[in-house]
Amino acid sequence: MKLFRDIIGHKTIKEHLQQGIRNHQVSHAYIFEGDDGIGKRTMAFAFAAALQCKEGGTEPCGRCLSCLQMESGNQPDVVWVTHEKSIISVGDVRESICAPIAIKPYAGPYKIFLVNEAEKMNEQAQNALLKTLEEPPEYGVIILLTNNREAFLPTILSRAVVLNFLPVPDSELVPFLMKEAGIPDYRARLAAAYAGGSPGKALACAASEEFQERKDLVAGLMQNLPDMDEERMASMAKSLAARKDDLGDILELMQVWLRDLLYRKASGKKAELMFSQEESALSSQAERITYEGIRKLQEELEELIAKRKANVTPEPAVWLMLVHMKESFRS
Ligand SMILES: [Zn+2]
Repeated sequence: MKLFRDIIGHKTIKEHLQQGIRNHQVSHAYIFEGDDGIGKRTMAFAFAAALQCKEGGTEPCGRCLSCLQMESGNQPDVVWVTHEKSIISVGDVRESICAPIAIKPYAGPYKIFLVNEAEKMNEQAQNALLKTLEEPPEYGVIILLTNNREAFLPTILSRAVVLNFLPVPDSELVPFLMKEAGIPDYRARLAAAYAGGSPGKALACAASEEFQERKDLVAGLMQNLPDMDEERMASMAKSLAARKDDLGDILELMQVWLRDLLYRKASGKKAELMFSQEESALSSQAERITYEGIRKLQEELEELIAKRKANVTPEPAVWLMLVHMKESFRS
């Protein structure tokens, strides 16, 4: 179960919500605004779970009936309002919020409505919601999740506590990704940069098939390189050089392989290897290659990465590097 303390980033928002719970000053309406994947839903879940928890603390206890129901998605007094259409109509709002909020909570102290993609409410829908916000029942809490607060009427905004979710800094996002997705640090940094501080996007990128495919490609290439014939190496250089979009990623993965080799040579713990599944190939190459050999290959790779950034056609250079790697891995 995701607790407040498990959520990365958004420290002031967490503190604000937990303080509200502690002081029994919970607003009837919140707007959680921020990019997709930034953590709005996770925060709303922890908030709703804590508000309904039988233990009454500022974190959900994770054990009481309410917490167990939260986890299985069956808490009768927490309603996720979702919708597949492009517009949330006045009928939708009446049916899923205005009418049911009038019915007292079944068991908990609150009745909570969490509205995904709330920016999809059209003007009539917002006006219907406004009537409820003007005279909310004591126990009612409505949380609107959105990537765009501009979509709301000023009258809605003025009746809600608006919390703005900012990008999660890399210093928090990178360790989180390494742990959650089980990926190496350099890849976590790439994913964090790509996702603009959104943990959800970064996780999706880190776990993407493209990344796995590149990793498998490099693992296969580096393992088989010592036994490759010239023809095979030439065609490999050609197909690598043709991968304009992700050649940079592939070269960086090759650097990780060399780092693993260096590490394998210097010590021996399997746990620290990025290519841990290719441990036996790494071990046998580590026995053959010299420290000087690894250093030279690292320099060559760096040069190649720099050339690629300068848009130089890298095929001959890729081929030459493969030849040098093969020699070093075999000698
Ligand atoms: Zn609980």
